[in-house]
Amino acid sequence: MAYVICEPCIGVKDQACVDVCPVECIYEADDMFYIHPEECIDCEACVPACPVDAIFLEDDVPAKWQSFIAKNAELAGVA
Ligand code: SF4
Ligand code: SF4
Repeated sequence: MAYVICEPCIGVKDQACVDVCPVECIYEADDMFYIHPEECIDCEACVPACPVDAIFLEDDVPAKWQSFIAKNAELAGVA
């Protein structure tokens, strides 16, 4: 299980989540940031830090953003 960054991050990318992640597992891609699913320790610190509510626990990702589970993994190179 890991946390996943979804659609609201695209174009926002303010990096607030990066600053609070204790294991530095949030990385920048071209259009958004993503969470490395094998490095995330499920601490939830990034969730309240995000101003656009883009971050969800994998099991709680809204149906319309399910594709972002794979997108975070693909960007991390572990898909
Ligand atoms: S849940 Fe914790 S470890 Fe995982 S990305 Fe967010 S801040 Fe980092
Ligand atoms: S805080 Fe939210 S909008 Fe900002 S980079 Fe992180 S996920 Fe994207």
